[in-house]
Amino acid sequence: MPSTAIKVCVRVRPFANLAREKGQSRIIDMDTDNGRCYITNPKDDKQRSFDFDRVFWSFDKDTYKFADQIDIFNFLGKDMLEQGLKCMNYTILSYGQTGSGKSYSITGGESNPGVVVRVAEELFKIIANPPEDKKNVKFSVQTSYLEIYNEEVRDLLKPKSEPCTVRLVPKTVHPAGVIIEGLDKMDVESFAEMSELLYEGLERRVVAATACNKTSSRSHSIFTIYFTQSEARDPAMIGAINKIADATVRDKKMKAYLEGLEATCQLHLVDLAGSERVGETGVTGQNLKEACAINTSLSALGRVISTLAKKCGENASKYKHIRIPYRDSVLTQILSNSLGGNAMTSLLGALSPADVNYEETLSTLRYCDAAK
Ligand code: ADP
Repeated sequence: MPSTAIKVCVRVRPFANLAREKGQSRIIDMDTDNGRCYITNPKDDKQRSFDFDRVFWSFDKDTYKFADQIDIFNFLGKDMLEQGLKCMNYTILSYGQTGSGKSYSITGGESNPGVVVRVAEELFKIIANPPEDKKNVKFSVQTSYLEIYNEEVRDLLKPKSEPCTVRLVPKTVHPAGVIIEGLDKMDVESFAEMSELLYEGLERRVVAATACNKTSSRSHSIFTIYFTQSEARDPAMIGAINKIADATVRDKKMKAYLEGLEATCQLHLVDLAGSERVGETGVTGQNLKEACAINTSLSALGRVISTLAKKCGENASKYKHIRIPYRDSVLTQILSNSLGGNAMTSLLGALSPADVNYEETLSTLRYCDAAK
């Protein structure tokens, strides 16, 4: 168990087959045994290092310790499922500039599925064959998939989605948390159903982005698995409770509670918008609005995560009374009950190996460093 509730890793992708990366040199080096990542400034050859919980290569197996999609799942996904079984909320975030491998790690492709697909597959295996202490537990799964573009939320599981409204319900009201009006939660019975929904949503994200001349990397997407566990009570007791409940309680949730203890956790897999800075000059209109929205939400997320890290860190008592700024963006509002408290968070920084991307890669490393 790390000393904070936030686990941070970085992954460097291989060189891309892009003209701008042809003949480029590699500025990233890694000490995988000690979780240390080195970056060299191509201008003066100065090297800096950053320490994380884990660092992942994606290079040639013979030359470096190669990290595959399964390694990312073993590090992040297994942890998520373990916490999920304990009914704890969990969030995996992928951060980095466009083209650095965020979507590859989160969703991947059909031949090399990312962490979300592997988590979904494993979850249904667990349900089919639960651990010994969960034999009496009834499981159910729902899912939702949303996109945040320009601080507006759209349901990716609907063919045509009106903007959804996000409301934070304060702790003084029961049940407290986040309400996203207009977002559907779909019941899911199998891994096949869940991956169908994921690919449907992904397709919608890309089509909508192309229609308005942007790329899907200008929006954040959140795929959420709602995992419910209800522990059956003694059958004789259920009979007695049901008699009373049928006569008095119409509310489905209350009835479920009377029949057994029910708890739901939320497992979020978040593919963040590209973190690259758009040049200040010459950017106007829609592009400027877009850049501001992304900047606002990524900075807000950074502030939430670093405040949480400080509150769990060595000088925790110093930060006891500092407010966590969840309300500063739609992204942090939506994730508010899954970052902090009993929830666990993992941040994956996606890195390009090429010297042309030095500034952006350094900025990703700094962002991840501040989250520790
Ligand atoms: P982003 O989501 O950050 O914009 P992508 O995930 O789309 O970036 O990755 C950009 C390109 O690099 C894609 O063609 C992707 O398949 C490839 N890629 C990214 N990470 C890896 C990796 N670890 N191994 C192999 N290819 C990768």
